[in-house]
Amino acid sequence: MLFPGNSTYERHMQNVKNDMTERAREWGADLIGVADTQRLAGIGTRPADLLDGWPRAVCVAVRLADGIVDQVTHGPTALYSQHYIRVNAVLDDIATRLAAWLQSRGGSALPLPASQILCEETFVSYLSHKAVGIAAGLGWQGKSLLLVTPEHGPRVRLVTVLTDLKIPPDKPLRNRCGTCTACTDACPAGAIRGVGTDSHFATRREAVDLDACVAQLRRFSEEAHIAPYLCGVCVSSCPWGKRKKG
Ligand code: SF4
Ligand code: SF4
Repeated sequence: MLFPGNSTYERHMQNVKNDMTERAREWGADLIGVADTQRLAGIGTRPADLLDGWPRAVCVAVRLADGIVDQVTHGPTALYSQHYIRVNAVLDDIATRLAAWLQSRGGSALPLPASQILCEETFVSYLSHKAVGIAAGLGWQGKSLLLVTPEHGPRVRLVTVLTDLKIPPDKPLRNRCGTCTACTDACPAGAIRGVGTDSHFATRREAVDLDACVAQLRRFSEEAHIAPYLCGVCVSSCPWGKRKKG
């Protein structure tokens, strides 16, 4: 018999997780993790009750191309803008497939868009994929407020699928920014204060001057005719993304 709490159910859900991971990788995912949505309490969602009835949030990451990100030294490039849009489309495609697959395994699913801005003033969306990624153990929140993964640093884009299948959740990772100041030094707006949000218990606003960051994004958009609003310098400068693999 399958019911929550019994060992057969737990094994079944672990098998679902293993199969889901394999499928997602076939569809183009580089990283995948599962968050218990209890860890997301208080993150702020649109609508406010978005997570109600969804015990798990699956977070998928697709890696950005190093050849493109490496060129983002002082501001966004046209290549980066196009790549950003295309990777978001890949993520939306994976999320759509993943939702259908979860439903084929007896669950319900709600795929959220990779990058749909609901308010042009505040840049808010349905929820923070980054918060889901952190809760799902894909990486930690860097001093830049980006999700930093051990595998690819912040050179990833993210998407989320909510599900009612109680797939075994992953555990968050410890912060590994240490004494690094690369993103603080590189930020063209001087917006990253270098305090992080872990060691000093600083809030997001204390860690990064978000108004200065948004103003810089608007300047790039006006001066270089880059759309959507982009920068990418903190993505490019993080040593965790530059590490040579294998
Ligand atoms: S996106 Fe650009 S302006 Fe904003 S914090 Fe990162 S480097 Fe600074
Ligand atoms: S550049 Fe350094 S301080 Fe900034 S997020 Fe990456 S590891 Fe952390």
